[in-house]
Amino acid sequence: MTVTAAPELDVEQLRKDFPILSQRIRGKPLVYLDNAATSQKPRSVIDAVGRFYATENANIHRGVHFLSERATLAYEAVRAGVARFLNASSSDEIVFTSGTTEAVNLVAQSWGRSAVRAGDELLVTAMEHHSNLVPWQLLAAQTGAVVRAVPISDAGELDLDAFDRLLTDRTRLLAIAHVSNALGTVNPVRALVAHARQHGLVTLVDGAQSVPHLAVDVQELNCDFFAFSGHKVYGPTGVGVLYGRAALLERMPPWQGGGDMIEAVTLEASTFAPPPARFEAGTPKIAQVIGLGAALDYVAAVGLAPIGAREDELLAYATDRVSGLDGIRLVGTARHKAAVLSFVVEGVHPHDVAAVLDDEGVAVRAGHHCAQPVMSRFGVPATVRASFAFYNTPEEIDVLIRGLGRVRTLFA
Ligand code: PLP
Repeated sequence: MTVTAAPELDVEQLRKDFPILSQRIRGKPLVYLDNAATSQKPRSVIDAVGRFYATENANIHRGVHFLSERATLAYEAVRAGVARFLNASSSDEIVFTSGTTEAVNLVAQSWGRSAVRAGDELLVTAMEHHSNLVPWQLLAAQTGAVVRAVPISDAGELDLDAFDRLLTDRTRLLAIAHVSNALGTVNPVRALVAHARQHGLVTLVDGAQSVPHLAVDVQELNCDFFAFSGHKVYGPTGVGVLYGRAALLERMPPWQGGGDMIEAVTLEASTFAPPPARFEAGTPKIAQVIGLGAALDYVAAVGLAPIGAREDELLAYATDRVSGLDGIRLVGTARHKAAVLSFVVEGVHPHDVAAVLDDEGVAVRAGHHCAQPVMSRFGVPATVRASFAFYNTPEEIDVLIRGLGRVRTLFA
């Protein structure tokens, strides 16, 4: 064993915050290495959601009764908290969505339908999650625009020369993952966004996989949009965030109509509320937003710097151990990675690998990780993906390694 916990974190103690981690699966201690799909929830998040339903539940914004006012205050306080978390300049720049997917679709359908014309080019990368690719393909089909993708190297890094070449006077948008969910690559988004902005592009950063691991400052990134999902950052499912630069949000039309997003409605026509309400039609995800607030408080209390340092150590340890095994090929060996180890075991389908590991209580993901173009790039149908959170331990990685040894024995 070469790794010790980052001194800042008392991991044994912190693990006790996550009730699910003490479970046994198939008689073995749970080793949860599927954090990129969704992370586990600390007691404070579970309790915040329960407490909301038990003591505060009411619909928000239009009620004049006590509970409605209290729920409204709590919901809006989380918006302010998210703005602080991302260092947005105003909470009006924070739109609650159901997740990263909805946030990207919102931008594609609202900004995109009003600003993109036939022949315009939308620049993505070849390592996008389908959530940051398919919405642009839909927009392209609706407008006659064209989607172009920055290719990736064998290591899983963006080809920056190609990026330069792909920027033309028709390019309107750069939509890019901060961290790749399939490869773990951390992209140099700050530099790419700066470059794109010099060319007058609108920029969207998909932060689904970065927010749990790195401190994000949207003013420093200087992107126009930034999206993330609550459930990957220790919060509930069903809630996410779209940060949008105020000047853009104000010009964008609604993309969904309904309650809460209007200013005045007649039978003939409607006028619309200013952002962020304009983009939150219908009863919002109130309890989930409350849970998200508790999750971000939890992350802030633990500290993103020690979280990131701890996960870097776990990734280095796992990379070292897995690469020492025969017949395993890592997919994604970028110099700068976060918390994701994707690999294939020669001659064994990733689903079989995951099934054997599951027998050992080890939860990993096997599949295309909603990134089929990445799989095609590396010539594999699927990979096994172990993804780490700060609460994982080197001992758990040892269990993974023993499980992989068992795979080799069973399929030799
Ligand atoms: N983008 C990336 C990089 C992701 O990893 C994911 C989920 O895995 C998403 C977008 C979509 O997130 P959600 O399904 O929470 O909307």
